[in-house]
Amino acid sequence: MLMRSKNTQNNLPRVNKRRLLQTPRGMKDILPEDFLYYDYLLQTAKKTLEFYNFRRCEPPILEKADLYNKGIGSNTDIVEKEMYTLKTKEEGEFLALRPEYTAGIVRAYVENGMFNWPQPVKLYSFGPVFRHEKPQAGRYRQFYQLNIESLGDSSPALDAEIILAAKVFLENLGFNHNELEISINSIGCHKCRPIYIRALTKYYQQHLKDICTDCKKRLKTNPLRILDCKNAKCKNVKEKAPNFLDFLCDDCRNHFKNVLDILDSLGISYVLDKTLVRGLDYYTRTVFEIKKKDKAGDLALAGGGRYDYLVKLLGGLDRPAVGVAFGVERIVDELKLMKKKLEYPKPKVFLIQIGDAAKKQAFILLEKLRKANISVESNLEKDNIKSQIKNADRVGALYSLILGQQEVLDGMIIIKDMVSGLQETIPFDRIIDELKKHLKETI
Ligand code: AMP
Repeated sequence: MLMRSKNTQNNLPRVNKRRLLQTPRGMKDILPEDFLYYDYLLQTAKKTLEFYNFRRCEPPILEKADLYNKGIGSNTDIVEKEMYTLKTKEEGEFLALRPEYTAGIVRAYVENGMFNWPQPVKLYSFGPVFRHEKPQAGRYRQFYQLNIESLGDSSPALDAEIILAAKVFLENLGFNHNELEISINSIGCHKCRPIYIRALTKYYQQHLKDICTDCKKRLKTNPLRILDCKNAKCKNVKEKAPNFLDFLCDDCRNHFKNVLDILDSLGISYVLDKTLVRGLDYYTRTVFEIKKKDKAGDLALAGGGRYDYLVKLLGGLDRPAVGVAFGVERIVDELKLMKKKLEYPKPKVFLIQIGDAAKKQAFILLEKLRKANISVESNLEKDNIKSQIKNADRVGALYSLILGQQEVLDGMIIIKDMVSGLQETIPFDRIIDELKKHLKETI
């Protein structure tokens, strides 16, 4: 006899239904009221960045995992611990959900021959990225980034332009420039970085007993990242660590000096932070972060820098580039704290219908109103007039239209002013003109 296992149905493992109805850890739904903020952010980005001649470009969410292994660096936290990878069923191809935008944009730049376009190619992107991090306040496993890149030119003017555009974007969103802090550093090039890393390693080796186990590990795998350590135990050692700026080669020093000079001439203030190195291996020369200053602790809103070798590393020509990525959720949370009020447009008119004949007419009338650009809402699933009037009030409509059995028979419709309560009955075919007249009067 065929037995059905207690735990399975059609050979599928039993599903914990409660779990089924929960998002994966560290991920969340973006509900309609929240999406207003995401939209506002994207619209502000579009207005600001397109004015600065950046154009939108969206690489796919899935890329070959090796693009990130190679591009971001196999010893970075992102690649080592945080990437969501999968193997496709048919081709057995290893893909990864993008943990950041830059590597994908660089691939797109090369694959689409953008190196033949007038340089620099200035692009922006907006969408979700995925990192399997430990979820905590302001840190998710799926979060949105707004990403800006300027590819194909090594001029310090482009580093400054990216920082300027980032700052203007945040100010256009409503941030006050006094509450933003730009920290900046230079982490050199292939020529001067090895010299600095040697000095840094030597210094840390002399202080092994005063640093955390993570730092001891980083010292072997990725010494520059040691400066990123937030462990209190390492604070003293970190503060006295050699400063990269003392080790920059002439080209890198000149580049950095030029970036700072331009920022000065633009009146953009910044703080030199000798411990700023960023968590991705591709950065060269300028690195920076934009924080919202806060008594309870600064909040990193954006981070970026130059990545002059990445295009070549991924198989393209020698093309320098610079970019920045913003954490959208953090900005959305800040906008809410600032009490930035955003709402969906309210319908100007609410259509109330009573009875089958009216319902049929109502459908046609709704479309007629929308075609005439009059925003309208209705409850075609309801028959009860009381609840429909309540809804007309709730949505804040200026006028409601009432279409009952008698009105349909007479070819008439009632128009009711929701503020004064006054109502009049008018011929059905004059409704658009009448409404337009009334709405003009209310504006
Ligand atoms: P990164 O791509 O690591 O340079 O990060 C750029 C920005 O993305 C940061 O400044 C944060 O605002 C934001 N960010 C990074 N990781 C997360 C995360 N796990 N959850 C939410 N936002 C994040």
